[in-house]
Amino acid sequence: MEANVLFWATSIMNFTYSFIYHFLQNSSKRLPFEIPEIRFVRAGVAIVHDQTTGPTTLKCSISRTYLIEERINESKDGFFKFINNGSAVPLDMTRKDARELSEFLAFTQHVQFYKTKGAVYLSDLQGSMQLLTDPQIMTSPLIGEGAEIFGDGNVPSAFNSFPEQHCCNHICRWFELPELAASVASDARSVISNS
Ligand SMILES: [Zn+2]
Repeated sequence: MEANVLFWATSIMNFTYSFIYHFLQNSSKRLPFEIPEIRFVRAGVAIVHDQTTGPTTLKCSISRTYLIEERINESKDGFFKFINNGSAVPLDMTRKDARELSEFLAFTQHVQFYKTKGAVYLSDLQGSMQLLTDPQIMTSPLIGEGAEIFGDGNVPSAFNSFPEQHCCNHICRWFELPELAASVASDARSVISNS
């Protein structure tokens, strides 16, 4: 499950950067800030087999399963919780660069929510200034009749309050994202129920 969440989170983040680059290509405005380069750790699943030699056959069985992730060097790069999964408000940061990154990540949540018409966004955003890990994929309670598609932590109350909780910052405004409102959530309901 965790490997699948990382796989999909990577895809959703790539989609977010595609939105950014597409906007920049089609805009005549000069970007007054830098776009951080951040991504999720690469990961894979490693399975350990026990080998039992029988009289004529070699039997294999899975004895252990590991999630192997690209290492975040905490002592060198630090480790920050930027946004947790219970709230769309970035956590307080004392470091200026971490605070700027948390604002960028709040903007990416807005992009995701807006471009999926209120169906999905990434949360529980944490890691170093370059690598994120252990995210949560927040999906609308209307998808799959509220099934836990991406594991525990998909908090329906947090999802439903996202449009009200998210505060647009200067990045949202520069990319001309429409203000989130309750109407976005109702748009999502009609899109999902019609599909
Ligand atoms: Zn916003």
